[in-house]
Amino acid sequence: MKTIYCIAPPNEERRAYLEPHFTLVAEADLDDPKAWLAENGSGIEMILTSGFYGFGDHYLELMPDLKLVSTNSVGYDGIDARALAQRGIILTHTPTVLDAEVATTAVLLYLSCYRNFEAELANARTGAWAKTGNLPLPHTGDGRKVGILGLGRIGKATAAKLEAFDCTIAYYGRSKQDVAYEYYDDPIALARDCDALVSILPGGAATQHLLNKDVFEALGPDGVLVNVGRGSSLNQVELIEALSTGKLGWAGLDVFEDEPNIPQGLRDLPNTILLAHVGSATVETRWAMAKLAMDNLINFANGKPLISPVPESKGLI
Ligand code: NAP
Repeated sequence: MKTIYCIAPPNEERRAYLEPHFTLVAEADLDDPKAWLAENGSGIEMILTSGFYGFGDHYLELMPDLKLVSTNSVGYDGIDARALAQRGIILTHTPTVLDAEVATTAVLLYLSCYRNFEAELANARTGAWAKTGNLPLPHTGDGRKVGILGLGRIGKATAAKLEAFDCTIAYYGRSKQDVAYEYYDDPIALARDCDALVSILPGGAATQHLLNKDVFEALGPDGVLVNVGRGSSLNQVELIEALSTGKLGWAGLDVFEDEPNIPQGLRDLPNTILLAHVGSATVETRWAMAKLAMDNLINFANGKPLISPVPESKGLI
């Protein structure tokens, strides 16, 4: 049986799925992973990782026969897919199966900002309602003009869900797409024309701090900003400044620059709704992602076509 080196620890369910096909080595079970790999790394062709665990360059030297890295995530900004491709190593990821779930998370954040939901929940749960009554009326999220930054798979699923709330959708991306929504080639112009922005941009150098004070100020004091893409795309220092001085209305965030750390400044603000990167985190969706990541490994081992290689790997297939 071929060996899979698991950078991301496989739980019982995933072990049960993989063990009929492979010998599993979980990095978390090794006392000294580098020493173990120095002795046993030759011959290992496959790695299972995740967006959280990523892929360090040292594996390339320790596993000279590596052929496939399967990441249990759609985002792969923590893995240099081009450098892998140059060495003939394929990278697979888990697109599509999480679109609906992440879109739901984006819409939950969007509505929670407009409806001041965290405070409303606390007002009921703490019994404050009986003592001090209802909170000031919040605003509606229905019927807004919403700008999507990154109208890809998840962006389109989010747009479709927001349309059910009678929202008008516009979008920013590097290129105009064949869709009915209005296109902007400038995120600041999009922010100026919209009530709210929802960002589902990937991470990496090209989107670093694309969401910054110019965008926040263009969105304005009543504006709502949601980010479910990557924390690196948003300048957190400038966001705290904009939210705390009233230049921006609200922020709903699922992703942060230095996860799992969330700056105290963001946690202290009453006009933020914060989640711990749970965009795709349901039993059903996480299993669908894991199954896709594992099926890529099984197909590869059996000489069958890979289901979801990243675009950078397509030249190798
Ligand atoms: P996708 O289908 O590849 O869509 C990405 C979109 O971003 C594309 O429409 C692309 O449009 C745009 N884009 C890419 N680079 C850009 C740049 N430099 N400037 C402007 N726009 C750019 O990806 P997806 O499956 O929707 O996933 C998107 C991201 O969501 C992932 O990369 C991941 O980081 C994040 N994510 C988060 C969670 C969570 O739990 N919060 C879960 C899953 C995914 P153009 O090519 O036209 O520019």
